[in-house]
Amino acid sequence: MAEVSFDRVSKVYPDGTRAVSSIQLEIADQEFMVLVGPSGCGKTTALRMVAGLEEISEGDLRIGDRVINDVPSRDRDIAMVFQSYALYPHLSVYENIAFGLRLKKVPKDEIDRRVREAAHVLDLTEWLKRKPRNLSGGQRQRVAMGRAIVREPQAFLMDEPLSNLDAKLRVQMRAEIARLQDDLGVTTIYVTHDQVEAMTMGDRVAVMRRGELQQVATPQELYDHPLNVFVGGFIGSPAMNLIEATLERDDGGYAVQLGDQRLALPEQLVAARPALAQWAGRELVLGIRPESLEDASVAGAAADGSRLRARVKLREALGSEVDVHATIAARPAQTDEVRELQADKGLEALDARASEATVVGRLSPKSRTV
Ligand code: ATP
Repeated sequence: MAEVSFDRVSKVYPDGTRAVSSIQLEIADQEFMVLVGPSGCGKTTALRMVAGLEEISEGDLRIGDRVINDVPSRDRDIAMVFQSYALYPHLSVYENIAFGLRLKKVPKDEIDRRVREAAHVLDLTEWLKRKPRNLSGGQRQRVAMGRAIVREPQAFLMDEPLSNLDAKLRVQMRAEIARLQDDLGVTTIYVTHDQVEAMTMGDRVAVMRRGELQQVATPQELYDHPLNVFVGGFIGSPAMNLIEATLERDDGGYAVQLGDQRLALPEQLVAARPALAQWAGRELVLGIRPESLEDASVAGAAADGSRLRARVKLREALGSEVDVHATIAARPAQTDEVRELQADKGLEALDARASEATVVGRLSPKSRTV
């Protein structure tokens, strides 16, 4: 069994930076766990502690039943795949893959068997004699994977392994790594800042912010039931629309007031959130997923949906969908979390006095002609 568990693990760098704060996380045997979050949230530090490349300041890290805080990296039985691949340029693909096994003095025929097996799985057999410089980016990436596989470790640790590949190859390798992990059944911790990568690859995803875990859940659960504004805004593309609103009681139910508009909340939503009552009369952040919006003027639009008046600024036809950018007379949410999400996406800070919020709707094709 190779569970990996963080028991209130923290990392404080010598300069006082608290990069990871009391993380509690259990990764099951054979699980694919993705750590995701914006730059600087501490995900790489968390991974490096498992790898034995950073000391653990507080708490216990376990692989299986063993506390590994003081176990040297080479004795942890893990294999790491980095963003840079870290291949030896003067060695052939074969020798690169075999390297770790030679160091461990594994018998020659055993090395040969394992290297050829890995090469076969990774579709590298015909390139075994080549040097890394004569390979494509995707092939180099596979060699790095091969090197990890042949060690037959208890866990794979991967730090943004796809970030040097072009967009098309990333999508392909994403699927390959996920399939490979599934076939091999090796517990994997995968670090990325790319939420699409996280959502498509992870059995579960751990979202981090400022050194703390925000939520750990399956991709679907994260998407459908984000625990806070940060997770809601971070997961999903186009991003969730976040608007300042006030929750009001309304005819036995609830409504949100945003600017001069009032939206009744669907009964279903209210029933699923018994804690809503305590927020009545208070200001909150209303989050609406782009695909939850539709064009109310189109025949076939849901008659029971709440209506929001918006001024359309831009339509982007994507073929199967159309993204509509519009403004509504309400203030965009401006919490610290929202500001951080804006910065992470490279967007300008919102004007603190803004009285109009931009909303993005991802509409179905039937709205295309309007
Ligand atoms: P990125 O995606 O940019 O790599 P990350 O989420 O992986 O970011 P870390 O690299 O783990 O984040 O860094 C977490 C925090 O710790 C950051 O504030 C970073 O500046 C800080 N940090 C990282 N390494 C050190 C170090 N050696 N000394 C001091 N602070 C550090």
